[in-house]
Amino acid sequence: MDAVSSPVTVTRHGAVAVIGIDHPPVNALSTGVRQGLLDAVRVLDGDPQVAALVISGGAGRFIAGADIREMSLPPGPPLLPDVVAAIDGCAKPVVAALDGAALGGGCEIALACDLRLAGPKALVGLTETRLGLIPGAGGTQRLPRLTGVAEAIALVCEGRVLKARDALALGLVDAVEGDVLAAAIARAPATAKRRLSALPVPPGDKDAEAAAIARARKGAKGMPAIEEAIRVIRAAEAGDFAAGLAAERAAFLALRESAEAKALRHLFFAEREAGKVPGLEGVAARPVASVAVIGAGTMGAGIAVALADAGLAVTLVERDDEAAVAGLGRVRAVYERQVKSGRISAAQGAERLARVTPTADWGRLASVDLVIEAAFEDLAVKTDIFRRLDAIARPGAVLATNTSYLDLDAIAAATARPQDVVGLHFFAPANIMKLLEVVKAARTAPDVLATALALGKKMGKQAIVAGNCDGFIGNRIYALYRRHAEVLVEDGASPQDVDAALEAYGFAMGLFAVSDMSGLDIAYAMRKRRAATRDPGERYVDIADRLVEAGRLGRKTGAGWYAYDAAGNRAPDPLVTQVIEQARAAKGITPRSFTAEQIQRRLLAVMASEGAKVLAEGIALRASDIDLAFVNGYGFPRIKGGPMWAADAMGLKAVLREMESAHAAAGAGSEPAPLLVELATHGGTFAGWHQGGQQE
Ligand code: NAD
Repeated sequence: MDAVSSPVTVTRHGAVAVIGIDHPPVNALSTGVRQGLLDAVRVLDGDPQVAALVISGGAGRFIAGADIREMSLPPGPPLLPDVVAAIDGCAKPVVAALDGAALGGGCEIALACDLRLAGPKALVGLTETRLGLIPGAGGTQRLPRLTGVAEAIALVCEGRVLKARDALALGLVDAVEGDVLAAAIARAPATAKRRLSALPVPPGDKDAEAAAIARARKGAKGMPAIEEAIRVIRAAEAGDFAAGLAAERAAFLALRESAEAKALRHLFFAEREAGKVPGLEGVAARPVASVAVIGAGTMGAGIAVALADAGLAVTLVERDDEAAVAGLGRVRAVYERQVKSGRISAAQGAERLARVTPTADWGRLASVDLVIEAAFEDLAVKTDIFRRLDAIARPGAVLATNTSYLDLDAIAAATARPQDVVGLHFFAPANIMKLLEVVKAARTAPDVLATALALGKKMGKQAIVAGNCDGFIGNRIYALYRRHAEVLVEDGASPQDVDAALEAYGFAMGLFAVSDMSGLDIAYAMRKRRAATRDPGERYVDIADRLVEAGRLGRKTGAGWYAYDAAGNRAPDPLVTQVIEQARAAKGITPRSFTAEQIQRRLLAVMASEGAKVLAEGIALRASDIDLAFVNGYGFPRIKGGPMWAADAMGLKAVLREMESAHAAAGAGSEPAPLLVELATHGGTFAGWHQGGQQE
């Protein structure tokens, strides 16, 4: 074995040289890997004893893509296109042995080879658009030469990851082999050179191409990479490979510096950071094999589905048998819909449903490892349930609550084991929404927190840790954001102006449309509960109260901030306009108009300022956790990176000025966060701020 350059080594098998990459955990294309590959290919190309080359990432791996940390630096030599060009230009056949993820740049390397063999667990795809980029090393030019333009547009724009069999069906790999490395070594000497760069793009069906483009644009969500991918892939049809490659590279380099790509890279790292929780280093989670959910309403049923999807046995506990059966009916309905839409097979649906056991027998709670309470949002109901749980649950069982706003310490105090109590705040629909706020009460034990995080991971959720306060991270910030949206309406914007501005910003749905969907009664009840303790200095907008009192609870009653027809289509409603005008008249407000940009800036400033309070109080561990909460739980556009990231991008001085206006408009409770003032004054950013002080 002759080492060319670590982490790339070469081993000889007769006349076949295997270039092995060993750069844990995923063989990302760091500078060292690129250099090692380039050196190896050049040396072996000129070595008369070598007849053919195999590129291998070792058992269970290939190359999972670019080194994303390096992506925030200027591109350094050797560039990936140079590595790819060396493989393409090699006079000897090169075989790719894909035994694991061949994604992004890893897939581009495979596409430069003459033969691609996949192991059964291989994953293949050009996933760059997920990071706001397009492939930058020939992927957009080689892929259409294999699959045609329409399929290439679909694959690249969706960033689709193909399993070995699907990659084989589309021609991305040439064969699936049990022992892929042995097969690659065996086949390499007889492999002919087959440069995709020299092949013509197969003539495609124009209708299929138009359909693929339309679908890609529909899914673009404002991401410039999608339009660029379409343009550059279509350029391949002209047949000039070098020109196509140059167009691709120029677009890639420009996108790399785009605000959208930077925001998506920020979220990529935010996701990795979120799992790092101070105090949990080396703390083992408690084993969780069985879970019970108390309350089988909207949330409880959704949580049961999410647990069953993760392979856990779920006991679904209700007040009586009838309610338990109704709860199971909700679970069944979810699976029936999923089977009908083809998301899962009938057998999978039946298997998952069978994991859920409805009961009204609280004795069943004695044996489970973890309980999630999702009963009514009422402190008396919850403390009563936790008192009963304390008497039944086995010692060491984790006792969790899905409360949205209530004081976790008060709930924990109903038990003699507050160390075992934690918040598991899911978002509706609980089996779909990725966000999970793991709420740490004052006395939550570290291993209980670790257990909650491990469960979130098992369920495929994006867990973030939150401290205990009214609304935790997400709902606390959301409450102020909604309040200011209503202030804007009272001051002259229409609900549809606000929603249109938010949708133009990238939200899938505006705030008022969302309120109608979740129901206006929930926030109404919360406002009533807080009425007694509300600061008299706070400007109170009562438009939503009037709507609820008029029986407009949102979609479920056919009317809320909007009117809904039988098909569920929403339209502005003159009755709402009337209520709004009355509210303005009662306060002597002369309505003024707001541009979409003014609305966007105001609401962003409000979110960021409240986020800064959440940060300074230690409710969130870091600004990027707040970003993850809003992107995964509140529809904040991913390409904007989350509210704290977007505020940094807007500039905190401007955010502070905007927040001062917001404060002037809305009064007490909207004072700019001291942390915002501090960072704006000293030129800091949320991304660079850390609990304990210093900027990075
Ligand atoms: P829901 O009214 O749909 O369901 C509550 C269920 O709990 C009902 O089926 C009820 O029969 C049952 N229940 C009540 N008391 C019980 C008891 N003592 N024992 C057993 N079962 C009991 O309410 P929901 O919307 O599912 O909300 C449940 C919890 O989840 C609340 O704490 C709520 O704040 C929280 N939450 C709701 C949402 C949401 O969007 N709906 C989102 C996040 C969190």
